[in-house]
Amino acid sequence: MNLSRRLPIYLLIDVSESMAGPAMLAVEQGVKALVDSLKGDPMALETAYLSVITFSRKAEQVVPLTELMHFTPPKFSVRSGSSLGAALRLLMLSIKRDVVKTTATTKGDWRPLVFVLTDGQPTDDWERAAEEMRRANSPRVANLYAIGCGPDVDPAVLRRVADVSLMMTDLTPEGFRKFFLWLSASVQSASVKPDAEPGGLDRLPAGVQLADEDTEYDPTPRQVFLQARCQKTRKPYLMRFARRDRDGLYEAIAGHPLEHLETGSDAAQSSVSTGDLDGCPPCPFCDNPVASTCPCGTLLCTTQNPRDAIVCPTCRAELVSGPGGPAKIRRSMG
Ligand SMILES: [Zn+2]
Ligand SMILES: [Zn+2]
Repeated sequence: MNLSRRLPIYLLIDVSESMAGPAMLAVEQGVKALVDSLKGDPMALETAYLSVITFSRKAEQVVPLTELMHFTPPKFSVRSGSSLGAALRLLMLSIKRDVVKTTATTKGDWRPLVFVLTDGQPTDDWERAAEEMRRANSPRVANLYAIGCGPDVDPAVLRRVADVSLMMTDLTPEGFRKFFLWLSASVQSASVKPDAEPGGLDRLPAGVQLADEDTEYDPTPRQVFLQARCQKTRKPYLMRFARRDRDGLYEAIAGHPLEHLETGSDAAQSSVSTGDLDGCPPCPFCDNPVASTCPCGTLLCTTQNPRDAIVCPTCRAELVSGPGGPAKIRRSMG
């Protein structure tokens, strides 16, 4: 076996709202654990090359195909949108550009392994990209695994994208750690038998299952996200609400700091009535317990005291608090 043949591994990671908070941190730690574990395996160390593509409103190859020894795990930041199609196109581009093909005279790289972690609710024209990839992948040029993370995954999306579709139900840091260890074992066995079909399915960790035809899917979102801004620090954050089975209302869960506030028509916004929400997550920056909407469209953290002055962190307008109508607040999808 020629040791100079590389085994390219692509991690496509959804960094949309549904990954905010503990899940995003757990994925970050998971990638670190994966790399550490592979570095301890001489065969993987010889052959494995890693690339990371993240996707939210845009897709970005945050780490180009890099030798394991020189790979630095990236930091992820949550943004709105879930452009799975753009991520698949970046993947195809990188495979075409960076992976050495086998010709009559040279032995090329091994067939790449691709792992797509997604909330399964893409917001762009992913279907066309999935179709292009199917065509590009026949005969097979990559082994594709799609892993659905979170309560709103549509398994049909995963099946359209990958050869193997998995559902991850345990989204705790421990769940992600086990998943990335499984991934490491799959990569290690692929570095010994690189031309094999996708494997490792007989030893999936607890909390990860195959997404087959019978996997149930409820199209009503289980989570709703709202972008807001802290009145004091002017920093953006994400409010997370989860659907309660009892009455279908969305209950306030937590506020997560965001790196960027995304506005405009391309941020894939729709509406949810405030009447469907129960409670309000406190501001993660100043602990303000509630939020109001400015006529400019900004949702901002506020105190509960109606005599406190309110200044919109976006347009700087002074707002008067009072009983408003049934305000429609913007909700971001992704
Ligand atoms: Zn605040
Ligand atoms: Zn405003």
